[in-house]
Amino acid sequence: MASWKSIPLHNKILGVLVLGAIAGVTANLTVGGENIQGFVSNVTEPIGRMWLGALIMVVIPLILSTLALGVAGLGDLKTLGRIGLVTILGFLLLTALSTTLGLTIMNVVKPGAGLDPAVTQKLMETYQGEVQGAMGLADKVFGIDLFVKIVPRNPIQAMANGEMLAVIFFALMIGVAMTIVSREKAEPMLKFLESLGHIVIAIIELVMKIAPLGVFCLIFSVTARFGYDLLLQLLKYVVTVFGSMLVFTVVVYPLVIKFIARRNPVEFFKKSRIVMLTAFSTSSSNATLPTTMRVGQEDLKFPKEIAGFVLPLGATMNMNGTALFEGATVLFLAQVFGIDLSFGSQIIVVLMSVITAIGVAGIPGGSIPLLMMVLGIVGVPMEGIAIILGVDRILDMCRTTLNVLGDLVTASIVERFEKS
Ligand code: ASP
Repeated sequence: MASWKSIPLHNKILGVLVLGAIAGVTANLTVGGENIQGFVSNVTEPIGRMWLGALIMVVIPLILSTLALGVAGLGDLKTLGRIGLVTILGFLLLTALSTTLGLTIMNVVKPGAGLDPAVTQKLMETYQGEVQGAMGLADKVFGIDLFVKIVPRNPIQAMANGEMLAVIFFALMIGVAMTIVSREKAEPMLKFLESLGHIVIAIIELVMKIAPLGVFCLIFSVTARFGYDLLLQLLKYVVTVFGSMLVFTVVVYPLVIKFIARRNPVEFFKKSRIVMLTAFSTSSSNATLPTTMRVGQEDLKFPKEIAGFVLPLGATMNMNGTALFEGATVLFLAQVFGIDLSFGSQIIVVLMSVITAIGVAGIPGGSIPLLMMVLGIVGVPMEGIAIILGVDRILDMCRTTLNVLGDLVTASIVERFEKS
């Protein structure tokens, strides 16, 4: 028998993911979701959150060092402009494609049309409190302020508040400035950032050593507490959204990888396994970024500057799965409320999903406040979000997986364009 040490990390994570899910579902069905609550809140969830915290802890220094070095490594503003353009176009293209696919499938399957009004009513009552909280956030996170805040007055404060777009802007500016000043003047900062990058990676390697424990606890917590009766009632919706994401993953990504990036899709997915598993178990693009960076550079062999530029940007700005989920959910809720969204309104849903996905924080449930905003814009009652909140975590795990895969796919597109 293979010893624990000799098993590759991705297999360990996959193993505990399955074990944790089985243990959680069993506990839920035998002991009951309510009774297991204490154990989950006091044991597995705190451990899971500490592991997640350890990953997120290094995200700001990681973004700062890799983005600044990535930009400096590009050498000049012309190259930065070219790569920046291809990157942003790649993000937008994939996100628009995924949302359109989600909406199309929703239009065909119509999972919201047959939902029992009694179920709708009960869900609205149960999740009302959470909706209020998210509504407050929805007001705060979007609007012109989101754009104004991209330029931080106080970068330290932006870092402390985890305002990722502002941190990205600051890191980009440092990178740009390093290409402007003389080599001699930039050298100490380059060395410092390089050293910071190495140290951060060493921390990530340590943290990933206990990934099996963290993943087990996270999955156990989610599955033990989950309301399976709710899942049954919303099964058609969950399956439709999941199915759309699956189609995007097994059809669209491979086509893009093969024909645009000119890489072997099977090999690409094999090497990305651990990234997908980490995203799935953490539901956080930010928490996955350290792993995405490592795999991008070491396994997929993206040039350092491209990985350093595209991946940190993507973790915040490129969310294919989230945009698909947003579009599909708006349509689902419209169907539930018997609102017939015209073709024009659906185009607005696509546009808004693509734009808001850029502003979504890469954390569990990050898209909920922005999704509410899109609902409001096309005239679907925002409170309707209560209907899906109970099953959101499951979909969050899936959409986060797409979100980070999309970053790797975009990096491979950028690499191809640079080569040619
Ligand atoms: N959890 C997602 C992410 O981190 C964001 C979301 O859609 O809620 O990518």
